[in-house]
Amino acid sequence: MSEHCAGHEGRDLGVTEIVCPNCGADLELFSDEKRVKCHVCGTWVNKDGTKYDGTGD
Ligand SMILES: [Zn+2]
Repeated sequence: MSEHCAGHEGRDLGVTEIVCPNCGADLELFSDEKRVKCHVCGTWVNKDGTKYDGTGD
């Protein structure tokens, strides 16, 4: 497994591509994150692509 991630920085984080449910912007969510903030409209988006409303978690 030593050469599996050659070329990267030794990190093993997957990236999930999701679409902002508010403005449709393409966002990238790292596997160690639960949600990401849209860089266009500022909406917090959950890993499943739904809008995060500040509840739960
Ligand atoms: Zn957005």
